[in-house]
Amino acid sequence: LIGAIESRRASFGSELAVLRAETERLATVLEQLTDGVLIADADGRVQFANPAAGKLFGTDKLTHQSVAQVVRDHQLIEAWKRCQQTRLLQIEAVELPTRKQYLQLIVIPDEHEGGSLLLAQDLTQVRKLEMVRRDFISNVSHELRTPLASLKALTETLQSGALADPDAGPRFLERIHTEVDALTQMTQELLDLSRIESGQVQLNFEAIAPRKLIHSAADRMKAQVERASLILDVKVDDGLLNINADKNRLEQVLVNLIHNSVKFTKPGGRITLGAEAVPGGVRCAVRDTGVGIPSESLTRIFERFYRVDSSRTGSGTGLGLSISRHIVEAHGGKIWAESDEGRGSVFYFEIPI
Ligand code: ADP
Repeated sequence: LIGAIESRRASFGSELAVLRAETERLATVLEQLTDGVLIADADGRVQFANPAAGKLFGTDKLTHQSVAQVVRDHQLIEAWKRCQQTRLLQIEAVELPTRKQYLQLIVIPDEHEGGSLLLAQDLTQVRKLEMVRRDFISNVSHELRTPLASLKALTETLQSGALADPDAGPRFLERIHTEVDALTQMTQELLDLSRIESGQVQLNFEAIAPRKLIHSAADRMKAQVERASLILDVKVDDGLLNINADKNRLEQVLVNLIHNSVKFTKPGGRITLGAEAVPGGVRCAVRDTGVGIPSESLTRIFERFYRVDSSRTGSGTGLGLSISRHIVEAHGGKIWAESDEGRGSVFYFEIPI
């Protein structure tokens, strides 16, 4: 008999150890979970709350409070009440403007105790991304509509007789050509942007001398600058350390900036490229004596499709600076602009060494 009791005790002990290990594992999971978990009894008193619940509801004293005191939102309280009455799972999502949060609450009936299990998820980030995507699609459609409408008008004019006109025919064809070029550039930039944003673009980092980078971009843009009757200066400090960068991509940033300076500077103006050492990095600058940028637009110009004044801009998609910002940030750097409206602009970017 004693032998039997002994063996029972041993197996009981090992079962207890297994149970303890499982409880501990469950506790760790609940502790680490980013979703908030609350267990409420039949009267709506919170019996258990994990740390994430405390964070989501902005208080760490959750146990023994009522569900209403914890969630503090009419719609969420109603969802819990519905679950208590119907014993059916309820899902409710609400925007909490005071807490700048978009919260989803799932209330699951607890069959044994007559209470409920509440799962809270913070969907703020997901919702923000959804909104960005929606805006983006409506922006793209809007931007495509304008050139497409003028292509339609141009072809219709050609069809209704202008084709045979030796003067108007070639002129309309030339305008179609320009519109198609603009559309092609825009789709290319959109593709670039989406690749960069989704992290599909692999940067090929190598050590580059800032001087080489600046001169290479200047050489590429020289003809265009001269055609616009502008002067291009390069002022690179001596003794700059190499930066770790993707040469082609960073050169693309410089080319974008110079291209903008050419577009927004009247003939006779000046564009100055520079590079200087700053703590931990190198700062490049593209300075022009152009129309400048109003101070309220200085940060917005880096957003997709943002153009200060599309009537003034003429051609352009408003994507170039957005692409440039992504490239610079992928290098661990930052980009910004300063301007004295009417007298010129300076675009800076810094790349860590
Ligand atoms: P795009 O030039 O194709 O319109 P960008 O993203 O390159 O698009 O530029 C966004 C806007 O910022 C431009 O439309 C223009 O209004 C303004 N901008 C950019 N660079 C300059 C500059 N050097 N001088 C004046 N305005 C500029």
